[in-house]
Amino acid sequence: MALFSMLRTNLRNLFSKPATILYPFVEKPVYPATRGSVEFNLQNCIFCSLCQKKCPTHAIEVDKNAKKISIDRLDCITCGACVDACPKKCIEMTSKRNAPSLGNPSKKDLYTQNA
Ligand code: SF4
Ligand code: SF4
Repeated sequence: MALFSMLRTNLRNLFSKPATILYPFVEKPVYPATRGSVEFNLQNCIFCSLCQKKCPTHAIEVDKNAKKISIDRLDCITCGACVDACPKKCIEMTSKRNAPSLGNPSKKDLYTQNA
């Protein structure tokens, strides 16, 4: 019985599409709910630091005096807590994937209010 079951599985796998893709040669599909990366638009930012406080991995640093926010892409786990916490809707979860870090221990992106 087990042999028959194995044979059936083998035949099914032989004639069906593979469940995996040849990444990075084939791009992974992007779905509407894909969590790719967090993006900031600081036009309406009041530098309240709520996003920094709510981030479970301490990926965000808010500099109120310089009106700058940085995010370490390697620390971010795209949980979306900062997006939910921002009272001014300055943070958005996009489907855009981060570029590889190429061996750097940190990969910070800086956002300024006037940029
Ligand atoms: S939570 Fe929103 S308004 Fe507050 S500092 Fe972060 S981005 Fe700015
Ligand atoms: S998505 Fe989550 S881990 Fe990434 S910066 Fe926002 S709160 Fe931090």
